[in-house]
Parts: sequence; structure tokens; C-alpha cells
Amino acid sequence: MIRIRKLAGQLFACLYAVFLAPFACGYSFDQVVPDVRQAASLSGGSACPVPAHQLSAAGSIAEQWSTVLNSDPVTIITQNQTAAGQLAEIEAVIQQSIAVWTGVSGTTLLPATFGAVTRTTTQNACAADGINSICFDQADLAFTPGVLAFTRIVTADRAGLQLANGPISTQPGQILDADIYFNPSDSTVIFATPQALPATPKAYDMESLMIHEFGHLLGFSHSAVWRAMMFPFAPAPGTFTGTRPSAQQLDAPLSDDDRTGLRVLYTDPTDTLHTGTIQGRILPANTLSLPATPPGVTGIFGAQVVAVDSASGAVIAATIGGWSCSAPGPAQFDGTYEIGRLAVGASYVVYAEPLNGVVSPAQITPATTGLCRNTTTDPGWPQLQACTVPAVDVSFTTRTLPGP
Ligand SMILES: [Zn+2]
Repeated sequence: MIRIRKLAGQLFACLYAVFLAPFACGYSFDQVVPDVRQAASLSGGSACPVPAHQLSAAGSIAEQWSTVLNSDPVTIITQNQTAAGQLAEIEAVIQQSIAVWTGVSGTTLLPATFGAVTRTTTQNACAADGINSICFDQADLAFTPGVLAFTRIVTADRAGLQLANGPISTQPGQILDADIYFNPSDSTVIFATPQALPATPKAYDMESLMIHEFGHLLGFSHSAVWRAMMFPFAPAPGTFTGTRPSAQQLDAPLSDDDRTGLRVLYTDPTDTLHTGTIQGRILPANTLSLPATPPGVTGIFGAQVVAVDSASGAVIAATIGGWSCSAPGPAQFDGTYEIGRLAVGASYVVYAEPLNGVVSPAQITPATTGLCRNTTTDPGWPQLQACTVPAVDVSFTTRTLPGP
């Protein structure tokens, strides 16, 4: 989902200026606990959360988009005004957005992972039908004020699940359907292709939003790194996130946080450059400050742990810490964090901060609420593999200890 951020009547642009200081959180993934009530051959037998993800075999991710566009009001502005030219320009944004993510080095997500992008003349093509669709003129209750676009994903919690005519899941965490919706009915919200944006400064950049939504399609939740593509707020009208992709650098609009997240989610075992991991625990100085409920919480939950390149000062990656898990589960809320797939040969400064800035815990809920299942959420859930997610701790302060 991507929202307009309003602050004292100003659009989000001013927040970029305010938060140029190192306000940084990090990538996170939607999480799902496998259904251990099913046979271990289907669920894997462990209640440890797994991140939502696409399969990355050739042609795994088919994509269709609805050519039905809203003309009253006109919500999509293209440079080419002919009917065929308009569709070609929109389709090029979709293709470019896919190419941005597949342009990241060191992942198994390749250009061939996506199947052909096809067109449909069905207006409301976005449905839980196992077909990944992009819709520009489909109303939805999720379009509450300020929501510009969102992605609805359905994730399997075991092998053997299928939506309508879609693929049958082969593993827990597999995304069965991901539909991208652009807001079609707010007369104050218009989108422009990169070609049309300079002449339409009140429009939102369709490409920035499309790349963000494709991040959700791939399994990302939100990041609170202010420059990340997965930041939950849109760039101001007339502007775009990062640098436009080029033939020399297809993934140019992404931040290092997005790239690191993608390498963690779609790890390429042959990538020898990004093999570093930083792991630790965020613990309170006084254990009495830990929540009384649920029982068993032994570390800070929901801390944003940020890895900064010592030489450049750039945020390389960040993650939401607070839990660990080993089979057969459930998750333990012991303050553990892990930032993986970091480039080796660099040194990093790591710090933790609470999620109490412009990005709130509500914006990463699939990444946190998806960590546990229990008899309340799922009848018949085995007690030994049950847990309850603690509230995100947003009020701690941290002291950084110098390294050795
Ligand atoms: Zn979003």
C-alpha cells in the first residue's frame, strides 16, 4: 500500500526534508506460520514463520493488466494520447517496474522469472483467482482516504493449496495471488507516466508507485528507511523516488535497503559478494521493563536495527528485530535480530531505534502479526507450537556500545 502523507496540510514532500537526518528503519517481509495441523509433508512440520515469497523458476510470475481506464475523472495521464499509444505507455511502466526488481544483482529473481505481461479487457480483473492482475479502474473498500495504490496478496500456509485456476502451492509462504490496485475514483488523485510527469506536476509518478507495489507482490512489507522504495508514503506529486532506471543501472530507483531485502528473500547461493550476516539481540537494561503479557518475552520486540556502512555513512540495510525461531517452533520473542546478505569486506555500524517515527507499527502489521498462531486464531492449533505476538515496543531508548 502506498499513501499520501499529510502533515499540517502539506503533502509528504516536506517530510522528506524533515527526515533527512538518519531516521531509518528497514525492510520487512510479510510472514506466515505454516499450518502444522496438516501433515508434515504439506506444512513442513514447523511453526516457525516463513516469509511470503514468489517461486523464482522461469515464468513463475505471470502478470495481466486491465486496459479499462477511468475517463471520468481521467486518472492516468500519458504523453501519447492515442488509445493504442496510451496503453503502450502504461504497459512500458509495468515492464520497467519488473525490470527494476529483476535488475538487482545476487538474487534468483531474474527477468525470466516473470512470464509475459498480458492484457485483459475485464474491468474488475483483480480477484482472488490465482491470476496476478493490475487494475486501474476497480473500486475497493481498501481505498480509504489517502491510499493511492495497494497490493492484495494471498499466501499459502502449506503445500497443496490453489485459488481457482492458479498454481497449486508447493511450499508454505508461496504467494498464490497478488493483485495491484491503483485508486480509480478520487478526483484529486491522478497518475502520470514518466514521459507525462514533467508536464503534469500535480500527478503522482506511476512508475514509483508501480515499483513499490511490485515490491509487495514479491513479499515485501514496508520499510521505514526514508529513501527506500518500500517506504509507505509516496513521493510528492511531480517527483519520483530515487533515480530513474537506465540501461546501465536498471535497479537505480531502489535503495540499498530494498536490494538487501531482495537478496535475503531470493538468495542466490552462487552470490559470493553478499555473504555477510550481522546478528545479535536487543535487550533491556532492566528486565522489569518487558511486557508482562504475553509471558516469555525476554527481549525488545519490534526494534529497528540499522546497518550503516562505516566508510560512506549510507544505510545499507535495516530490519525489524525481536524474535528468533528454530524448528519445530514457535517463534521466541528474545530480542534477536539478523541482517543478512551484506557485502563482505566492508565494516558496519549497527544501531537500534524504536518504531516511533513517521512509520508506525501499523504499517508493518503483516510482518509482525503473522509471526504467531494459537487456539484463538486457529481452532485446534497445537499448544506446544502456539504463541502470541507481543506489542511492538515503541518507547525504549538505546545506548550504543563501542565495538572491540
Ligand atoms: Zn505499500
